[in-house]
Amino acid sequence: MHEMSYCVRIVDEAIKAAVDNDIKEVSGVYVEVGEMTACVNELLLKAFSKAKLNTCLENATLHLTNQEVIAFCEDCQKEFKPSRENNYSCPICKGIHSHIVKGRDCVILRIEGE
Ligand SMILES: [Zn+2]
Repeated sequence: MHEMSYCVRIVDEAIKAAVDNDIKEVSGVYVEVGEMTACVNELLLKAFSKAKLNTCLENATLHLTNQEVIAFCEDCQKEFKPSRENNYSCPICKGIHSHIVKGRDCVILRIEGE
């Protein structure tokens, strides 16, 4: 279950963010789940409930938002959704010089707590 490795990192980063923001007990973690991670939300929640044990996140709820893959075309400077139909190239200018800007990873949007 590769969701666990994402959760271990989410917990690590959330702990750092909590320390930086002077939060002693985290109550919520908001995470954007990139499509490219192929993570299943249910498995993320399950992994999180284990990864958070004995940390300041022990009572925290994980809130997930799914993020589709978005690429940025360097040729026409526009964002697009890469797909098999357009051969993962830019549907606007047909350019092939692009890079993924969203949806590649699990990213913490914010944490809450006190
Ligand atoms: Zn383009």
